[in-house]
Amino acid sequence: MNHNHKNTITLEYDLNLLKTISFLFVILISLESDGQHLNCYDSDKALSVIDEERINEVIKGRIENKNFRNDERDTIIINPIILRKSDGSDPSISLEQLDLAINAANEYFKFTNIYFQYCGNPKYLDDDIYYNLTIEEGHSLNDLMHVPNAINIYVVETISQAFPDGTVSLFCGIASFPKPETDSRYLLLDGACMSDETLLAHELGHFYGLYHTHETAFGDEFVNRENCEIAGDFLCDTPADPLLHGSNVVSCRYFGSEVDPIGDQYRPDTKNIMSYAPQDCRSKFSWQQIIRMRDIHMNENSYLLKTCDFPDFTIKIDTLFAAFRPNQEIELPLVIYNLGSKKLAGLRLDAYLSDEPGKRMNLIENDTILFPENQSQLNLKMKIKLPVDLPETTQYITVVLDESDQHKELDEENNSATLAYKVDYGNLKDVTIYPNPASDRTKVFLRNETMKGEVLIDLFDTNGRLVLRETRIKTYDTFQAEINTAFLLPGIYFISVRVEDSEPYQLRLLKI
Ligand SMILES: [Zn+2]
Repeated sequence: MNHNHKNTITLEYDLNLLKTISFLFVILISLESDGQHLNCYDSDKALSVIDEERINEVIKGRIENKNFRNDERDTIIINPIILRKSDGSDPSISLEQLDLAINAANEYFKFTNIYFQYCGNPKYLDDDIYYNLTIEEGHSLNDLMHVPNAINIYVVETISQAFPDGTVSLFCGIASFPKPETDSRYLLLDGACMSDETLLAHELGHFYGLYHTHETAFGDEFVNRENCEIAGDFLCDTPADPLLHGSNVVSCRYFGSEVDPIGDQYRPDTKNIMSYAPQDCRSKFSWQQIIRMRDIHMNENSYLLKTCDFPDFTIKIDTLFAAFRPNQEIELPLVIYNLGSKKLAGLRLDAYLSDEPGKRMNLIENDTILFPENQSQLNLKMKIKLPVDLPETTQYITVVLDESDQHKELDEENNSATLAYKVDYGNLKDVTIYPNPASDRTKVFLRNETMKGEVLIDLFDTNGRLVLRETRIKTYDTFQAEINTAFLLPGIYFISVRVEDSEPYQLRLLKI
């Protein structure tokens, strides 16, 4: 994908946190299209809640002791969700590229002692709408897919924003800053942009409370660093930055002529990951950025999960091939395994019937079971009542575990099992009616391969009056006819079924 189209306009919202009266303002910055900029939408700066005073003190205290060797290395759980088209094709990123991006981010974050890892396999979501996502759709995507207390990372094909004048901007990434509503925090990334291996680190930088080095929402930072603690990105070891881009940075050197509000010429750092310097230049966080992220990790972001403490349920139908009769009540032997964290879990089981393997066509039964703690295997029998009108071809029962994803699992793809079975008409009575009792309709089933020809179905009330007569033709070994019973008054009726000149079958029907 061509990256040039990503660089049109950045829209930033901000809240000035240093003032007691908060105010919101919007800055529009035009960027030139040179294909080099990271076009990032740091959407919820306005809502971010970061204790700047605490961080300031920590930074001052840390200046003397410049290492985190005594701090624990923490693993933080990320939850990558890869968008595909509705038909399951064209993933927005390959698993290999995703792993490369995560490895690169971990390398940039190594001095923070924070290590990002996902559990099991990344999830896929097949949805044409979210595949090419507008910024406004980010929240509903997150509501649909997010795992609480993980860093949910949605990798989509494109992220766009339409403006009233008809122009559309495309973004490489969106990140949420620390705020109390942790469930509404996430990263949105354009899969193609992730070939820039600093992109994920940059967006995670925002997630850990870093502002752009050219941030002006809290006031313009002066080159002389006089106001570096209260303006710009609040950090004093990231030089004032006039907003870098491909035409004022050449060979990773700043050649612009911009001056700060008091007339000093800028000397920005083109290597900083939180700048918009060309991607080949960005290679590091500053030391104070690292301290800031570590401190936010210990405080505002301390809610994040640190272990893959998830179960992993799988299911097996413990019989190979079966033959069932229509209308039979079967006890399906199931084995459910938990290959992950052994916690007590309520699990819903749904059983489907279909004429194709694995297809979830007709929900026939559901059940909720309790999977015990500290156990890896559970054997049980699921009672399933098969319908009367089963076709004579091979049929399939599919049992699905936790279909609505109540449990975050290491592997979400292994939660169903399918059994093929033959339908055995051998033990069925010659004539059956089903359903019985009936309300609007019932069906007459006829099995007896020697009897073929005209079928006469008569329905009598308790006074012996004929209330319905149907004539059909039986051509095959089995036969079924639907009878409309909607017009009947509630009560008992007698059905007589006669094939050609045979003795009639007599059945009783209860109309409700
Ligand atoms: Zn950014």
